[in-house]
Amino acid sequence: MQCLFVNLSVLVTLSFVMSLTYRSWPPPRFWHLKALRLALTVLTALALCALAPTDASGLRISLWLVPIAVMILRYGVGSGLLAGLPAALLPLVEPGQAPAAVTLSLINLLLVGGLSHLFRWALDMSDPHGSLQRHAWVAALIFLPVNLGLVLLPGGADALERTYLIGWAFNVLGFWAVASMITGRVALLQSTDTYREQAHRDALSGLPNRRQFELDLPFTVPGDALLLIDVDHFKRVNDRYGHPVGDQVLARIGGLLSDALRGRDRAYRYGGEEFAVILRRVQPGHIEEVAHRLRELIATTDFGNPPGQMTVSVGGAPFGLWSRTRTLWDADEALYRVKQGGRNDVQILSFDPSRPDPLEGPRPASLDPTLS
Ligand code: GH3
Ligand code: MG
Ligand code: MG
Repeated sequence: MQCLFVNLSVLVTLSFVMSLTYRSWPPPRFWHLKALRLALTVLTALALCALAPTDASGLRISLWLVPIAVMILRYGVGSGLLAGLPAALLPLVEPGQAPAAVTLSLINLLLVGGLSHLFRWALDMSDPHGSLQRHAWVAALIFLPVNLGLVLLPGGADALERTYLIGWAFNVLGFWAVASMITGRVALLQSTDTYREQAHRDALSGLPNRRQFELDLPFTVPGDALLLIDVDHFKRVNDRYGHPVGDQVLARIGGLLSDALRGRDRAYRYGGEEFAVILRRVQPGHIEEVAHRLRELIATTDFGNPPGQMTVSVGGAPFGLWSRTRTLWDADEALYRVKQGGRNDVQILSFDPSRPDPLEGPRPASLDPTLS
């Protein structure tokens, strides 16, 4: 009994170490991660076997089959049996162990492995919605045949009677502890992934939001370009037809932009009725071409009745060896000039060292709305 508690503690400790290998969701399909988990499972099973002393009849009760069952549920019967083989064959290298011990271990491995494989459909380790709770009976079933093979050995029936129930109860308890730890960790990673996604996506337009833009901005390189797209007279839409119609327009523009962009180019909802687009590896001459294509796409779209046709103004600037803030300001300045020039147009401002750098000089008066 005491050694079963030691086994349980070791099982939980090593399974905690194993759970630390679950670091992100969706799970990366790296072969070395699977190999690491396989190695940890082998190590756990071996440690559990080695830490369980044999009793007078030569029988050893340990929880080594628990990590094997978990491995099979996660990765299939092949990986699980492979991970279980070293522990099953351990008695061969231990002094004083009868060959019958190896036979019993192999029978246990095959029976528990077979049942775990059979019930893989019921116990999905990556299901955060309680497949473990719904199918708790599976854990009880998987470990039913452990050590039943003793009846085949001389005097085994006695040992079985003495140890069967307590061994089964500890196996089920151990399995529950390990499976809850892993599914709990996976559930945590899944919800973190969901919240991270929500934090970086604008709910109305479906586009990445300003926060995502700020994250992507440092990864821009010379040869990329920025477009700022502002809906013209958008306030009128709200004032005339109400906010829900305004919202529909923003959502539609979001869809149009993301559908129109290809490759690694990405559109963002920058704020209110303003969108940003980062163009990757674009030739300077093509920035204006893309901007016009986007402007025309929106100008020729029927947004329903109301509000009918909508137009946008687009300001753009290339990224270069200067600061990214400089590019932002240049695109903003270009957009301002389009608005001043009557809207529904495009301007791309190429880098001009004679214009003050935002990181060095004051913001140009033309960009300060209070001065316009
Ligand atoms: P301009 O052509 O100069 O850009 O004029 P504008 O009316 O588009 O610009 P202005 O900045 O005066 O107004 C922008 C409006 O966008 C004001 C704000 O209420 C509205 N707006 C911002 N975010 C949302 C939103 O999420 N939904 C709706 N319906 N309206 C929004
Ligand atoms: Mg506007
Ligand atoms: Mg605006």
